[in-house]
Amino acid sequence: MSDFLPTGIQLSYLVAASLFFVGLKRLGSPATARQGNRLASLAMLVAIVATLLDRQVLNYPMILLGIAIGSVIGAITAQKVAMTSMPQLVGLFNGLGGAASALVAMAEFWHYFDLTAEPNAGSTITVMLGVLIGGVTFTGSLIAFAKLQGLISGSPITFPLQQPFNAALLVSFLIGSGYLIATSPTPSLFLGLVVISLVLGVMFVIPIGGGDMPVVISLLNSFSGLAASAAGFVVMNNMLIIAGALVGASGIILTVIMCKGMNRSLSNVLFAAFGTGESGGTATGGGGSQGEKVVRNIDPEECAMMLGYARSVVIVPGYGMAVAQAQHSIRELADQLDKMGVEVKYAIHPVAGRMPGHMNVLLAEANVPYDALYDMDDINPQFEETDVALVIGANDVVNPSAETEKDSPIYGMPIIQVDRAKHAIVIKRGLSTGFAGVDNELFYRDKTMMLFGSAKDMVSKLVAEVKQL
Ligand code: NDP
Repeated sequence: MSDFLPTGIQLSYLVAASLFFVGLKRLGSPATARQGNRLASLAMLVAIVATLLDRQVLNYPMILLGIAIGSVIGAITAQKVAMTSMPQLVGLFNGLGGAASALVAMAEFWHYFDLTAEPNAGSTITVMLGVLIGGVTFTGSLIAFAKLQGLISGSPITFPLQQPFNAALLVSFLIGSGYLIATSPTPSLFLGLVVISLVLGVMFVIPIGGGDMPVVISLLNSFSGLAASAAGFVVMNNMLIIAGALVGASGIILTVIMCKGMNRSLSNVLFAAFGTGESGGTATGGGGSQGEKVVRNIDPEECAMMLGYARSVVIVPGYGMAVAQAQHSIRELADQLDKMGVEVKYAIHPVAGRMPGHMNVLLAEANVPYDALYDMDDINPQFEETDVALVIGANDVVNPSAETEKDSPIYGMPIIQVDRAKHAIVIKRGLSTGFAGVDNELFYRDKTMMLFGSAKDMVSKLVAEVKQL
């Protein structure tokens, strides 16, 4: 039995790790994502049960109480959170993961004082790594949460010599850790280093604009995985090492995808204090002209006629669609057009909205069929043949100046090329800028018409008008 248990545990870990791999693979496509999520959850259950059997757990009732409290909080939060608030919720959860890893590392260090464990250089290095990554992840995620939730200003907070100051903090941490590794454990020094790691997390995130928080959260998600891996090395648990490495790797891949989608480097996101942190810049009202530029207005009735008599329509959703929660009305509109023989497709930009996959999730919630969703690279060549591109609450991701204006902040960002369609209709409330704060040349083009109003109201009106055609 005593031999069987460790073998059984290791086999369970192997099964859990394999399920994690398959689950992650399935998460790669909207069609299989739900199944992937279930497989990964099952893997986590197997891992937890195996760990509870493996370790010399002293207090099962306390653990069950913790699981019960955590499950209730998790279930209620997941039910209540609005899709537009999902980035900050993920941020908060990442932060708690980082805190847990730092606490595991601290608990292990404490064993050195009551002599239940013998310190050695290797274990102290892993402990200090756990403290550093876990501490930075914890406070960095809390700041990201506060910025996105509007609890503190989303604008970058900068001060002179900020980066040298941050570098000095990091160097102090490394020197202090080196001292701890080389000599005997010193509680006051150790606690001082814990504080430095927490301050570093705050300093790391405050200079970054609120709009870039999703990228930061994805990066911190990766850090929380590394912190979990470090904790796995501390307590010598293979499963934790593997699961942490998977989170670390997938978080960094997602971070790179987001940066590529914006055509910005990670260092530009982290150190350039980009954006005001607010969505929408100068509101210039609804319609008319701006300076020399002329805007063509359209009303819902005319718009419905154009859509109803088109052969092909491509819907391009953006952040405004998410804010207005217009996805269900959009689905209704598409169904209605479909009945009239109009071919309807959806164009999804990788960074439309405020988090990766934002549009996919919302449209899936409204049961839009997956095969009607097209990635940017697949839909762009089809615009020449498209009668109407219907842009709903999107701005930066359809801005042609990203391709033409070298001095534009979004120059080089790949866009959905709605300007190539025969007609473009843009639904938004006014001429406000999007996240990047730049004016959009598309609104003034000859082939573009603006339908001013909130996305949900306007699309609902379109549904009613199209039904009357
Ligand atoms: P944008 O932020 O460019 O524009 C959104 C537009 O929605 C605004 O111009 C606003 O105009 C309009 N809007 C707001 N509320 C409503 C409403 N109720 N009804 C109708 N329209 C509304 O969004 P995009 O999706 O085009 O681009 C996303 C931006 O976010 C990109 O710049 C991207 O780089 C950035 N970003 C995305 C990340 C991601 O992972 N997805 C991560 C980090 C940044 P108005 O006020 O006139 O209505």
